[in-house]
Amino acid sequence: MTDVIKEIVDYHEAQKSTAVIDLEAAKKWAEISPDIRRKLINNVFCSKCGVTVIVDYVLHNDRFGIVLKGKCKKCGGDVASSIFRTTLMVAFPTYL
Ligand SMILES: [Zn+2]
Repeated sequence: MTDVIKEIVDYHEAQKSTAVIDLEAAKKWAEISPDIRRKLINNVFCSKCGVTVIVDYVLHNDRFGIVLKGKCKKCGGDVASSIFRTTLMVAFPTYL
């Protein structure tokens, strides 16, 4: 019985850890100025709506930069936005 409980606890902890924002990505994201972050959040492409706002997003670290994954504010569909290092370096020259 205790093994079963432990299994459930472990499962929930594993679930929790996947919900935690990628630390590397969070660090990169935090280095971007709030103005630019706002612009990036407000300029995500949705295949249905075109340019939209991303909501409920999570950050993923990528070797090319950061990936934002979330929902379109207008239709609720899945959207993702890759923020490439080059984009960041142009927008924010002291980055990296
Ligand atoms: Zn949409």
